[in-house]
Amino acid sequence: MRLAGKVALVTGGNSGIGLATARLFVAEGAKVAITGRNQKRLDAVAAELGPEVLVMNGDVSDFAAIEKSIAATAERFGRLDVVFANAGIAHATPVGATTVESFEKILRVNLTSTFFIVQASLPYLNDGASIIFNGSVQSVNGRPGFSAYAASKAAVRTMARVMAAELSPRGVRINVVTPGAIDTPVWNPLTGSPEEKNALRKQMGRAIPLGRVGASLEVANAVLFLASDESSFVQATEIVVDGGATGAPMGAPIYRQ
Ligand code: NDP
Repeated sequence: MRLAGKVALVTGGNSGIGLATARLFVAEGAKVAITGRNQKRLDAVAAELGPEVLVMNGDVSDFAAIEKSIAATAERFGRLDVVFANAGIAHATPVGATTVESFEKILRVNLTSTFFIVQASLPYLNDGASIIFNGSVQSVNGRPGFSAYAASKAAVRTMARVMAAELSPRGVRINVVTPGAIDTPVWNPLTGSPEEKNALRKQMGRAIPLGRVGASLEVANAVLFLASDESSFVQATEIVVDGGATGAPMGAPIYRQ
């Protein structure tokens, strides 16, 4: 068991990458707490993972709620060893058609909350704890219409470096997992029907050297490594899980003869 005896908090643990990670953490022996807002999905996770998992309804853009969730985790399990700041949103903010509210909402959920999750965790974190941020390849690939999202994810990567410098004296590690196109409900607003979602999967896969989009579990496996003591000398860096989309873009099917 790679996380035996550890206590882990996963924000946005009721869907997609966060849910896959929570499942894996439980399977690897961690005591797990998750947050999210959608009560129906939170209830489904509680039913699936059982009473040992602490399931909390909490909005990460409400900083008092973050503090409450983290305090409740520490109270229930007595310690905090792993924090996966995963919750995020990804709506478009095209230049020329974006309100301040829409832009700032992305920054608040994806970036500012990440800072305050770490700050609220500090009193409970064990020395040697591991914090993982969820980044995105969109921080480097210039996808049109996604300024706020891309900026929020680039900022998260930069912030991980600063915080790693600040927290290294305590042996706390902070790293980033950087997913490419991963098949999760985050795409639902872009597609109406299952057929449309399939078409989107295929289209995205053609721009990825490995020829397909990724699965949540493939990101969760990288998070597990960063959360576990196997990564004990890995600090202030990122693991990119994107099928080669940023490292070898010219290998994508769209460029093959
Ligand atoms: P999902 O939509 O499946 O999951 C998003 C999670 O975040 C949900 O659990 C959602 O729960 C939670 N969440 C969103 N807003 C809030 C909020 N204000 N407070 C608390 N929880 C919130 O998508 P993914 O699994 O794909 O996304 C997870 C992370 O991965 C995000 O940070 C995303 O940016 C990142 N990512 C995803 C990629 C992809 O292709 N899928 C690529 C790169 C990065 P609820 O709705 O109940 O609040």
